[in-house]
Amino acid sequence: MTEAEFAELDSNPPAWLLQSRANRSKTARPVWITLTCDICGYSETARPKKWWPQFSYLSCSHHDIWELPDPAPGLAREEIDGIGASFVGIVDR
Ligand SMILES: [Zn+2]
Repeated sequence: MTEAEFAELDSNPPAWLLQSRANRSKTARPVWITLTCDICGYSETARPKKWWPQFSYLSCSHHDIWELPDPAPGLAREEIDGIGASFVGIVDR
């Protein structure tokens, strides 16, 4: 195959190639991250969601929020429930 033929195939892929690319992306390993509680160290593996912000802390949902260090001066703390199966995400900003 010449380079020109390859470029043509790549920019205008035939059905069999599209199908094989689709199969590959479907079977691609999902990205997993480990969520770790900053209070007790419990951890869980989860698929990160696109809407998750960058968390300052993570804690199990059964902990009290004041078990975590206070936010830095000038930062407001926001709690986001429903992170993974049993976590609350804390964002200080
Ligand atoms: Zn915990």
